[in-house]
Amino acid sequence: MLKKVEHIGIAVKNLNNANSLFAKLFGKDHYKIEKVESEGVSTSFFMLGETKIELLEATTETSAISKFIEKKGEGIHHIAYEVDDIYAEIERLKKEGFEIINAEPKAGADNKLICFLHPKSTNGILVELCQEKK
Ligand code: ZN
Repeated sequence: MLKKVEHIGIAVKNLNNANSLFAKLFGKDHYKIEKVESEGVSTSFFMLGETKIELLEATTETSAISKFIEKKGEGIHHIAYEVDDIYAEIERLKKEGFEIINAEPKAGADNKLICFLHPKSTNGILVELCQEKK
């Protein structure tokens, strides 16, 4: 079962500019910046109630964020849902016919294990499952 929207990921061209823009919008600053080398991204996080907003800037040309911005421009990149047991959810969703991009969960930003479902199988929205690393 997916428990709640953990965060919404937004692809941006320039993280510094986006950080000041979103700080103005939200009326508060981001609480952390984190590079995820394996994904070729720099991220920043804002906390709004129980939901986080993750801004993502590409740090390499081959990063998924570079490709996304090239194709679609800046904007909502993914919606992340919190799960208790990511391995069990991957098995469950596979059986339901969803296309899993990485069936082996990987390390994401913010101390999470993450996995993505292909937008082809989820009405065009890239879905991230995330579980707090214990
Ligand atoms: Zn994310």
